[in-house]
Amino acid sequence: MAIAYQGHILFTKQPDRFEIHENGVVIVDEGKILEVLEALPENREGLEIFNMGDRLIVPGFVDLHFHAPQFPNLGLGLDKELLPWLEDYTFPEEAKYSDMEYAESVFTRVAREIWRQGTTRVVLFSSVHKESTELLMSIFDRAGLGAYVGKVNMDRNCPDFLVENTEASIEATRAWLESTKDKYPRVKPLITPRFVPTCTSELMRALGDLAEAYDVPVQTHISENQAEVEWVKELHPESADYTSVYEDHGLLGDRTVLAHCVFNTEAEIAKMAALGVFAAHCPNANYNLASGIMPVRQFLNAGVKVGLGTDVGAGHKVSIASVMSTAIQASKIAWLNSDRTLAPLTTSEAFYLGTKGGGAYFGKVGSFEPGYEFDALVIDDHRLGVTEGRTLEERLQRFLYIGDDRDIVTRFVSGDEILEPSM
Ligand SMILES: [Zn+2]
Repeated sequence: MAIAYQGHILFTKQPDRFEIHENGVVIVDEGKILEVLEALPENREGLEIFNMGDRLIVPGFVDLHFHAPQFPNLGLGLDKELLPWLEDYTFPEEAKYSDMEYAESVFTRVAREIWRQGTTRVVLFSSVHKESTELLMSIFDRAGLGAYVGKVNMDRNCPDFLVENTEASIEATRAWLESTKDKYPRVKPLITPRFVPTCTSELMRALGDLAEAYDVPVQTHISENQAEVEWVKELHPESADYTSVYEDHGLLGDRTVLAHCVFNTEAEIAKMAALGVFAAHCPNANYNLASGIMPVRQFLNAGVKVGLGTDVGAGHKVSIASVMSTAIQASKIAWLNSDRTLAPLTTSEAFYLGTKGGGAYFGKVGSFEPGYEFDALVIDDHRLGVTEGRTLEERLQRFLYIGDDRDIVTRFVSGDEILEPSM
C-alpha cells in the first residue's frame, strides 16, 4: 500500500535552489518516492495517510566520512595539528578495538548518536581489526541505518601496536569481504587504506585488486595537511601527484571517496572530475586541526561530486547540519582571504552537499525525486522561534544553524521508520 506523508516538503534537486511544497504530500511506495504533490490526490483508495502538520519533511542527512573508533575522543586534543594528533590521540584509541567488549560499547553509542543527529546514511572507517569491523556492521544493520563500513589497512609509518603485516592485512581484508559482502541489505563493506603514508605500494595495489574483484567501493584520505602532502611527495616520487598515487595503485574511480581535498592542484581536481571521484568536505575537522579550507567552489565548478563529512573525531560534531553551517562559514573565509572569484556557498548548496551530493554515493539517495529512496527527517522547529512570517526556507535555515536532535521527531530509511537503537 502506498503511503502519503503530508507536511512542508523541502529538498534540493539542484544545488542552487530548494524545491518547496508548503502543505505538500510525498507519496512513497515500497520505500521509494513515487511523486511529490501539492495536495492529497482526489482518489485516495489504497493510500495510507500520515499528516505531519506544521512540520518540515526533508531528506535524511548523509555523512561521507566518520571514524567510528574515534568517537570516545570527541572534543579531545583539537589544539594540535594532524600528525601529532594522530600519534597522541587517534592511534592509541584505535588500538583498543581488539577488545570486542569495548568495541561493542562504543559502536552502540556511535549508532545511537548518528541516529539521533538525523544521519540516515554514513561512510564509516573502523579500525584495523577485522572482528570489531564485523561487529560495527552488525550494529548498524540492527539499527536500520544505511552504511558503508571499512576495515582500515596500514602496514607502515604507524605504531607497532597497530601496524599490520602486509600479507596478513590483505588476507584479513579478503576474508572480511567474503563474509560481509552480501550479508546485510543496507550495510556494505568498502576498501579502506588509511592514507598513502601508512600503506606500502604492495598493500595499495592488492587493495585495488580486491576492490575490483569484489566490486566494492573505496574510501581514503587525501591532501588534508601540508606536511602530509610533502611527505607523500617524498614517499612516491614516481607518481605525478597525491591523486595519481591512488590512481597508480588501482584505487581511484567513480566509487572512490576522498576525504578533505584541501590542497589539491588543478590537475588533480580535473582528474577527480573526469573519473567521477567523490570528495568529502570536512570543514569542522579542517578547522580543528588547522589544516586549511577546501576550495569547494573550485571542485563544484570543475564538476567533481562533493558531499559532506563530520570526520569524527577530528570533527567534534556528529551532526551534518552543523557541518553544513561550518561549510558555509569556511567558504566565506576562503572567499574573503584567498580568492574573491570563488563565491561562498549558499544554504541550498550546503544542504545539497549534505543530502543529494553525498547521497549519490549510495545510489538514488538524498532527494525526493521519483525513484529515490525515502530517507527522510520530520522536523518540528517550533522550539527555535516564531514560525509566523517566516518562509519555509528560513525555517529550515534556522534549524540547520541553531536546531539539534531535539527538533527531529521522526527518521526514515528506505521508507522504514527508524527508532532509537537500543543500548
Ligand atoms: Zn578521517
